[in-house]
Amino acid sequence: DAAAVALGIDLGTSGVRAAVLDGAGNVLAVTGTRFAGLGAADAPSVWWRALAHTLDALQARLSLGDVRSVTLDGTSGTLVAIDAAGAAIGPASMYHARAADDAVPARIAAIAPPGSAARGVGSPLARAVELARRPGVRAILHQADWIAGRLRGRFDATDANNALKTGGDPDTLAWPDWVAEAGLAPALLPAIHLPGAALGPVGAEGLAAGLPPGAVVHAGTTDGCASFLATGADRAGDAVTALGSTLVVKLLSDVRIDAPPYGIYSHRIGGRYLVGGASNSGGAVLLGLFGVDRLAALTAGLRPDMPTGLDYYPLLRAGERFPVSDPAFQPRLEPRPADDGVFFQGVLEGMAMIEATGYARLEQLGATALRSVRTVGGGAANAGWTALRQARIGVPFLPSRSEDACVGAAFLGLYGGAAARLPDQAA
Ligand code: ADP
Repeated sequence: DAAAVALGIDLGTSGVRAAVLDGAGNVLAVTGTRFAGLGAADAPSVWWRALAHTLDALQARLSLGDVRSVTLDGTSGTLVAIDAAGAAIGPASMYHARAADDAVPARIAAIAPPGSAARGVGSPLARAVELARRPGVRAILHQADWIAGRLRGRFDATDANNALKTGGDPDTLAWPDWVAEAGLAPALLPAIHLPGAALGPVGAEGLAAGLPPGAVVHAGTTDGCASFLATGADRAGDAVTALGSTLVVKLLSDVRIDAPPYGIYSHRIGGRYLVGGASNSGGAVLLGLFGVDRLAALTAGLRPDMPTGLDYYPLLRAGERFPVSDPAFQPRLEPRPADDGVFFQGVLEGMAMIEATGYARLEQLGATALRSVRTVGGGAANAGWTALRQARIGVPFLPSRSEDACVGAAFLGLYGGAAARLPDQAA
């Protein structure tokens, strides 16, 4: 049997998942532990216990003795304050929380550059400034940084993807002066590394958790970037559409794009950028219009070869973020045919139009031209919808290697940051 050489760990909002790969990138095992039952999801100690359980479960199945790289992804925007010994001070500041004090995001808005992901009412930088006021704080870390720190026994590192939302510059790998001006002292900030870069060997806690002495912890990434890498997308122009509750498109681009009105930021992956946006349309709209029980039967009746000619923009309520940014944008679901099968197909055609317009918008803003699409999420299994989308979008649709973010994280460590920087193969 091939040895397990790369371990990837996904720290999510509801649990931990871990994957081990062999040297060729094949997935040997994936397992996970939910936070529920262990304690509160915002307690950093619960993340650590869930990870310890997960590593025990992996070791019950195969040896971790040959693991060389350990790489983590975490929830983008979830933050931890730590003391001089690396212990978490109080609960984490969760990704969906808002700064308690409006003055902090207001100050950031006044000094951060227009394209910065650290701006806005939900600014993680604003929450970091507030966390830094807790007594005894010596550093502010992201979720993945803290667990990686415990595995290493050092809490001095983050990665360019996680650091983006607290103001880290993905090109210079530095904290700009305006981050200190916003109220976050440079002494509290970890060094920024490229995602996948080797940081250093596992320490006492990592060894106690079952990792071998030769294992090296690598700089991690966010959950979204790890999910993208898990699919196997790795060339400029490769894209992933997520058809979950919302419709999200992500494209690997040679060009950086920052368009906050569309929620578009550039995550650095290898020598490239991951750009994308999220529409309010998607699976939640399907559930709202048709109900979960009818989706399978309606899907069986799709006729992708017979377009309905309906020109819908499917939303449950007014407001869209991407590919148009307009809080007052109106749904368009008229006229409604008598036949629900035709209505369903019209709604999916409308979503295919939104997806195609989304990719066109990224290209208009300067991104690398689309060359392939992989699909993940609940809608990916709908063959009729896939046919409608493929006809509309017009580039090859490719299978996803995995939908597990932990597999993407493991990949990042295996290739030491060269994931998504592999030389372009001929088309
Ligand atoms: P999330 O993790 O974002 O909640 P999932 O990836 O689990 O979403 O996908 C759930 C979505 O998949 C639901 O919103 C549902 O509308 C959609 N879905 C399920 N079955 C089908 C189908 N046959 N055709 C289209 N969409 C489907």
